Amino acid sequence: MPRITQHTEARVTDRKRMVNADIFFSESAVCDIIAHADKGASENAEVMGLLAGRVHRDEKGTYAVVERTVTSGLLSDAVSVRFDHSDMGTLFDALDDLDFEYVIVGWYHSHLGIGCFMSDTDAATHGSAFSDDTGFALVIDPIREELKVFKSSKDGPKEASMVIMDDHTQMA
Ligand SMILES: [Zn+2]
Repeated sequence: MPRITQHTEARVTDRKRMVNADIFFSESAVCDIIAHADKGASENAEVMGLLAGRVHRDEKGTYAVVERTVTSGLLSDAVSVRFDHSDMGTLFDALDDLDFEYVIVGWYHSHLGIGCFMSDTDAATHGSAFSDDTGFALVIDPIREELKVFKSSKDGPKEASMVIMDDHTQMA
């Protein structure tokens, strides 16, 4: 995965969260991830993509809001996935097409029937792209119908609390 420089340059804005969670997802972003993972599963392949949104801060610390996801061509099989470096133009075009001021707050990928956890490879990938404490990794297993989010910590990725926002509620 390419190093995500925009992330560390994130402009953090003050906004009090309504409930205490580490990360909030728009309903449409989660639907896109589920559809992508289902399509991958039908081809017996893992999928991945990036989580675009914003980082906010309140008295409890920082938290992220994911508005949209982006992806590109992938090199994947049933147990691994990575971006196809020959297709990075698609990824950057998708980022350019986002019509709001975003930062990359994390990434997602799927597991096929083995449950949601961060493997050693996943943790290494995460650490190379997100070195500070506001990078998130969503893992979805479309076969077991499970979904979990992990956040960076000194001891490696640990499970984070997430909230899915109804697209009609004004939160972000
Ligand atoms: Zn994994």
